[in-house]
Amino acid sequence: MDIRLDGQIAIVTGASSGIGRAVARGFALSGAKVAVNYRSGADEAQALAREIAEAGGEAFAVRADVSDKDQVDAMFAKTVERWGGVDIVVANAGLQKDADSFEMTLDDWRQVIDVNLTGQFLCAQAAIRRFREQGDRGVSRSRGKLVCMSSVHEVIPWAGHVNYAASKGGIALMMKTLAQEVAELGVRVNAIAPGAIRTAINAEELDGENGEQVLKLIPYGRIGDAEDIADVATWLVSDKADYVVGATIFVDGGMTLYPAFRDNG
Ligand code: NAD
Repeated sequence: MDIRLDGQIAIVTGASSGIGRAVARGFALSGAKVAVNYRSGADEAQALAREIAEAGGEAFAVRADVSDKDQVDAMFAKTVERWGGVDIVVANAGLQKDADSFEMTLDDWRQVIDVNLTGQFLCAQAAIRRFREQGDRGVSRSRGKLVCMSSVHEVIPWAGHVNYAASKGGIALMMKTLAQEVAELGVRVNAIAPGAIRTAINAEELDGENGEQVLKLIPYGRIGDAEDIADVATWLVSDKADYVVGATIFVDGGMTLYPAFRDNG
């Protein structure tokens, strides 16, 4: 299946590393122009923009803290100023601040909710406003595509990560509510829920003995790569997925299949 995004303009948040970087690269390889958002990884974001340009694509690095409304709005404005519109937004930026609930600081609770949930809402709101305003740009069957990066922890409880699980549980209904609200405008809102994907966010959790434990939770028997998510994201924002609205696509090697029940429970 040849998936093309030619003529389309994408913003990918948290794209200086991990899943966001792979998604931005994947979109660019499929012909989209890509705004590579970063908060702290300026060098990495600029290196990715250069790599895309050297491969014949178009990209620029744009700094914004997704939990700050003014910075999110400025990121959209810079993208529109440069390329004239926005067709695809992947609200991917996220972080973990882990602790048992009885020890978690209010700051760590708030920071994770601010970035993972409020940050995605701010990007979603800016995206929907933009899609409404610009109307049909004639580059896709849909008037705009928004992808929320969720997690298997939108359904699997996760002890020691109550802030993270709450943020992703929030994404599940935020995404569906937005999808229901804006589908009549021709805008598609969906989510991807990755399982264990090897990136900076979980470098320690997936190493050595921990990695062996995690593998027991994955029926398909391997840790995922960022490209596993990028490939699904590229399909999901393309016209090949034009009838997919309000869906969470689990990309998890079967992690949500209750693998402990494989041996009769
Ligand atoms: P990562 O740490 O490599 O990437 C997260 C990115 O978000 C980083 O580039 C970071 O700088 C950026 N970021 C953090 N706070 C930000 C802010 N306020 N504004 C802008 N950018 C900010 O980790 P990743 O695994 O690539 O995570 C990407 C997304 O995938 C996250 O939403 C994460 O919850 C989700 N996810 C990852 C996994 C996994 O196993 N890696 C599993 C499920 C869900």
